[in-house]
Amino acid sequence: MWFADIIVDISIDKLDKTFQYILPDELLDVVEIGSQVNIPFGRRRITGYVVNITDEASFDVERMKQVESVVNRSVPIDSRMIKLAYWMKHNYGSTINQALKTVLPIKEEIREKKESILALSEEYSSDILRLDTLLAECERKHYAAKYRLLSALKEDGAIDEGIVKSKLNISSSTIKALIQQGVIEQKNSIVYRNPIHKEYAHSSKCVLNNEQRFVANCIIEDYDRGNRETYLIKGVTGSGKTEVYLDVIEHVLNQGRQVIMLIPEIALTYQTVMRFYKRFGNIVSILNSRMSKGERYDQYLRAKNGEIRVMIGPRSALFAPFDNLGLIVIDEEHESAYKSDGVPKYHARETAIEIARLCDASVILGSATPSVDAYYKARNGEYKLFVLNNRANESKLPKVETVDLRKELKEGNKSIFSRRLAELMNDRLNKKEQIMLFLNRRGYVGFINCRECGYVIKCPHCDVALTAHNNGRLVCHYCGYTEPDKKVCPSCGSKYIGGFKVGTEKIETAVKEIFPDARVLRMDFDTTRGKEGHEKILEEFAGGNADILVGTQMIVKGHDFPKVTLMGILLADLSLYSSDFRAQERTFQLLTQAAGRAGRGDIPGNVVIQSYDPSHYSIQRAVEHDYDGFYEQEIMYRDLMEYPPVSNLMSVKLSSKDERLVNEAAQELRSVAATYIEELGTQNGTVQIIGPTRATVYKVNDIFSVLLYFKQKQYTVLTQIKDTLEKYIREHDNEMRYINIQFDFNQ
Ligand code: ADP
Ligand code: ZN
Ligand code: ZN
Repeated sequence: MWFADIIVDISIDKLDKTFQYILPDELLDVVEIGSQVNIPFGRRRITGYVVNITDEASFDVERMKQVESVVNRSVPIDSRMIKLAYWMKHNYGSTINQALKTVLPIKEEIREKKESILALSEEYSSDILRLDTLLAECERKHYAAKYRLLSALKEDGAIDEGIVKSKLNISSSTIKALIQQGVIEQKNSIVYRNPIHKEYAHSSKCVLNNEQRFVANCIIEDYDRGNRETYLIKGVTGSGKTEVYLDVIEHVLNQGRQVIMLIPEIALTYQTVMRFYKRFGNIVSILNSRMSKGERYDQYLRAKNGEIRVMIGPRSALFAPFDNLGLIVIDEEHESAYKSDGVPKYHARETAIEIARLCDASVILGSATPSVDAYYKARNGEYKLFVLNNRANESKLPKVETVDLRKELKEGNKSIFSRRLAELMNDRLNKKEQIMLFLNRRGYVGFINCRECGYVIKCPHCDVALTAHNNGRLVCHYCGYTEPDKKVCPSCGSKYIGGFKVGTEKIETAVKEIFPDARVLRMDFDTTRGKEGHEKILEEFAGGNADILVGTQMIVKGHDFPKVTLMGILLADLSLYSSDFRAQERTFQLLTQAAGRAGRGDIPGNVVIQSYDPSHYSIQRAVEHDYDGFYEQEIMYRDLMEYPPVSNLMSVKLSSKDERLVNEAAQELRSVAATYIEELGTQNGTVQIIGPTRATVYKVNDIFSVLLYFKQKQYTVLTQIKDTLEKYIREHDNEMRYINIQFDFNQ
């Protein structure tokens, strides 16, 4: 007799166990691990996923119910996905239901409104003669609507269905008839419009230079020998990393295997995607967050069917259900978007490496400014490191200079723009060249600094900036240390001390005041909310419809603007003193990236970095384009403070509407952990416990959040502590049920 362990209805996040059912003989052949099945549950009939099949009953067979049937049309999930879900649950902390929901493509039940485009079918688009014959026939038979649509499609290749109906005045029945005839196809509008089939043929491969060839060959040789490794390619923007990926991808595809290519959403632009289409044609597909769940599900199905063999997308593309995955590439590996903000809080890099292990695939990481974590692992031999030193197109690195804002203030300039920046802006406006002004954080007061001497108020215990809270106190997020807000600078006594409030809007206004004739575009979360808002603004700017683009992070990632010859970074310190141990790293990466935006054409560019502390190593090393110098200093700091990657850090965030309950529970979990840690002894090194401490924003929507932190050299010690806490939480459901608990590893 056979039994199935089943995870019921994964929509219930809190459930964290399997239920056993009898697997009747008639279902033995059709049910496998990963099948979705119908089961009786209490009085209801629900669905669940089979995660294990066994001949050992876990309880009395007399009382056990039977699996009823297999859910029609469901894609049985690969048993590897279930293994992956368990791995995630174990390493990041979540219920198995939450982990499964993350890795499984889930079809939403609600019907979703779909936008679609109409395009000529492959048959007709590749055979113009045939299309012309059909057009002539429509004309002769006075099929006016059909004629109108087909001639429009002949011109444009693909058109929005909405436009077809409203502007071309074509009815649904005409469209349906043409689809049935096989002349046109209906497609989701997700794919960056109209990747014209004919264009594929024109794609010309570029011949890799020696540096690129060497890297690609090493990876391919390993691959052919069956060595699966993780590689880190460090190479400045424009050094030709993407060409190396394309070369290795082609090799892997030729072996009949599939590829996942991760690109941060923000860099997933038309140009990037077209490079892949042109090289590999329509076996390429993309995923992005603007797609509905249904559309995403369709992409997963196509991957499962073998229609798609290269999946490009942000971190969720990792879960494309390929049956023969050979390679995962993660471009811009250092991007914080690769860390999930939902539960489980998985990191795409680590998860990719685990998936690759399960599928016998290789992993390539690439970045101009690798994450300290990845570089640390590469240095320690865990990853193989390659460096591309030269820009493939030989364009020159821009000239980067800093301006000390303390000096500006001292000399009477209170404007947002230093005199040097204003002078260069004037010059570029006169020359009709373009300017970008970059604010490396949204208008937000976090840290408190002195505008006269640059002093930043930091926690005496943690070396991170204190954060101003509404109650007039300054608080450290890492240990809960607090002190009263300051009226004068503790270092120089100046009264010019306080939080910084600058937003892109304020900058736009300031630009207009000083340069009334300049045409300014602004790009931030407010102006890009629309469906393609962000791409539209970039296109407008690239098309020369503005002189100055003001924006946050979005403007410095993945876009080429050859006419930009000046980049102004308005306040480098903004990201430097956020209360986060990765603040220096993020700042260095952002500054380096921003600097890379200027002067990519034939005209060399200028970069001006404004700061209250221009000698800070994050800024100095960025000015000198010195990654290794930055890394050396940063890793010393991490080592000293026992931060990742040298040590590991687990945070436990408890949230509840009940303030008293959440604080008590945090104390309780702390003591549970402390007892466990004492039992463990010190043979694996000590564990530091910090907290409970209030979250940055203690109360949001009447929900209170407190944090506990644990630091330890070994990751597995932290997961053991997590398991202990999870067990305690399960066993004390009465007190814990009103508290939401989230684990986060290495932030
Ligand atoms: P990265 O991914 O490192 O930013 P890309 O691969 O996008 O670099 O290359 C930057 C530019 O240089 C692209 O326009 C690309 O077409 C071009 N390029 C890259 N490698 C070569 C090469 N070997 N020969 C000619 N052009 C190249
Ligand atoms: Zn502290
Ligand atoms: Zn001061």
